[in-house]
Amino acid sequence: CGIVGVLGKHEVAPILVEALKRLEYRGYDSAGIATVQDGRLDRRRAVGKLHNLSDLLVHDPLAGKSGIGHTRWATHGGPSVKNAHPHQTGRVAVVHNGIIENFRELRSRLSDRNFESETDTETVAQLCASFLDEGKTPREAATETLKHLEGAFALAFLFEGEEDLIVAARKGSPLCIGHGDGEMYVGSDAIALSPLTNLITYLEEGDYAFVTRDGVEIRDAKGRLANRDARTISAQT
Ligand code: GLU
Repeated sequence: CGIVGVLGKHEVAPILVEALKRLEYRGYDSAGIATVQDGRLDRRRAVGKLHNLSDLLVHDPLAGKSGIGHTRWATHGGPSVKNAHPHQTGRVAVVHNGIIENFRELRSRLSDRNFESETDTETVAQLCASFLDEGKTPREAATETLKHLEGAFALAFLFEGEEDLIVAARKGSPLCIGHGDGEMYVGSDAIALSPLTNLITYLEEGDYAFVTRDGVEIRDAKGRLANRDARTISAQT
């Protein structure tokens, strides 16, 4: 339902939770964040209100300056910790808004892999991990994954061993990139990013983006480099 991502200079867990709070108005049944620290992916997820996630983080903190977060409104698989996002295989963590229409077909093709959840979203993480296992780079694996997905979605990917990369994609569900000072952000809504930046690039339909702290490379649905203007949006509260 809500997506945020931060490649930051500071510990990112509290920043992700604050950004998710700004998306609470959209409604959600569970929430979670993932970070990459010393090359390792890790995550925390909780059912119910965001303070359940914050409380969990007090007892079991999550370190790292790069991360993604999600508030979930369940469509496939009931609200539970194991169905909450991010979905992670060890090598890649994924947050997703919307529905992957062909997830059953993809899941049956990936039947040799261990699925932990009932969600459509986990097929995205498992498919991407299968491409990583074949030797593709994170950018290649995410790009290849996107080619197989049908439906309306926004996605953000975070990778093992990659502290300076979030891959973001938009098809039928909005997603924007925020530009900071040596930091970069991803949000399903610019409101989520408004305390962090007001310089925003909106992805267009079918776009995907390689976000690093230096900036963003945006490609259109055909994989061609795309120029998308960054705009200064008026301050939102
Ligand atoms: N279809 C996904 C799920 O049920 C994402 C739902 C959402 O947009 O929050 O997990």
